[in-house]
Amino acid sequence: MMCIAESSDLMSTPQDTSARCPVGNHHHFEIASATLAQRTHLFKLSKTATAKIAAKDAATSGKEIIDLTAGEIWSDIAPSVREGAIAAIDRNLNRYTDTVGLLELRHAVACKIAAETAQPWSAEEIAVTNGAKQALFNAAMVLLNPGDEVLIPAPYWSTFPAQIVVAGGTPVFIETRHTNYVPRLTDLAAAVTSKTKAIVVNTPNNPTGAVYDYDTLAGIAQLATDRNLWIIFDECYGAFAHAPHTHHPILSVAPRARNRTLLVNSFSKSLALTGWRIGYLAGPKAVISAVKALQSHTTSSPNVVAQHALLQHLDSGDTGFQTQLQRGIANARALGLSILSELTSVPHPCAQGGFYFYLDLTELLRRMNSNGGRTNADDIVTALLMDTGVAVVSGTAFGDPAGIRVSYGIDLQPLEKALRRLTAALNGWR
Ligand code: PLP
Repeated sequence: MMCIAESSDLMSTPQDTSARCPVGNHHHFEIASATLAQRTHLFKLSKTATAKIAAKDAATSGKEIIDLTAGEIWSDIAPSVREGAIAAIDRNLNRYTDTVGLLELRHAVACKIAAETAQPWSAEEIAVTNGAKQALFNAAMVLLNPGDEVLIPAPYWSTFPAQIVVAGGTPVFIETRHTNYVPRLTDLAAAVTSKTKAIVVNTPNNPTGAVYDYDTLAGIAQLATDRNLWIIFDECYGAFAHAPHTHHPILSVAPRARNRTLLVNSFSKSLALTGWRIGYLAGPKAVISAVKALQSHTTSSPNVVAQHALLQHLDSGDTGFQTQLQRGIANARALGLSILSELTSVPHPCAQGGFYFYLDLTELLRRMNSNGGRTNADDIVTALLMDTGVAVVSGTAFGDPAGIRVSYGIDLQPLEKALRRLTAALNGWR
């Protein structure tokens, strides 16, 4: 039986406005913690979300805050996406779609992946999802048995381990901080045990900005084949690889790994559509069929209007908007790198892909702590917010107590202001 203890009476008199607007009336429900499932101890609100909330809170106190915590790009909506959405509404499209997405959209995604991997793909090998996040969650839920281990290069995007743990698996982290944020094949191989089921490969990488080269991907695919592992290949930032670095879809490097690879992607970053929640998972039909069954019980289908919008975009063949977005990000990166080149005790960020500068503060923290202090990246993030009004994400969100992630997907003017303040602050702290 559910046991919910109310600390105030919900019943109200007719004059009581709370009956019309209970949300604003601050009724407090105290739920005995014993009523919640044990699995609620397995996850917390993501630290990137927490950093965003801290930035918002600081802004409400009247302080000018420049928010560089976002995992998204400030942009208008692509015209083809906008037209597709409006046309869907005008056509009164308001019903569930096929669980794993409109057949036409899955065809269009299959064509997109075929062009990227130079292999034919069919709609039965695609599940359209509510963003890449759901694609990853589906993957964890249909692949992992309790106790299965999954290798994750660290620093890592925190959702990877969180979802793996919820699905009953065990994340095993592979340190990359001393190898330019790219895992060494020998380290990966040494971490494989009889329980290892999969490896997560995220390139371009969030948070580090590393882009894995061809040989690394070939080596990972070979290891996965030799040791019978799944590859969960997250290429959400694939549209943002900065020259001379190139994004290699892993199946274009290792076509024979197709039977053990799940491709995860979305339109959230490539078209600046985080709020539209359309992503996809592509892989062997048996996996997609299990994902379809799971999704039928979780979200039924992705949003119909958003699906039609993306379908219109893909059918239009319009690459102009994405090119414009890529140019904007390249300009922001160039501006940011030139300002950050003035950092004195922080190495230049790798920034090969995506739209994050990942700063390694190991040396700065060593100096600051040389007389016994215990400052870590969390303290630096708090001090940056309080002293300079610049909000960034602590590396502790990504399993690294000495890094900070600085998003540069915003307009150039506030970006310049924020990075100048950040550089001056980091150079001034001893
Ligand atoms: N994968 C990575 C590496 C990400 O950084 C993110 C979002 O930040 C996602 C997946 C999720 O993207 P979506 O908005 O499509 O769910």
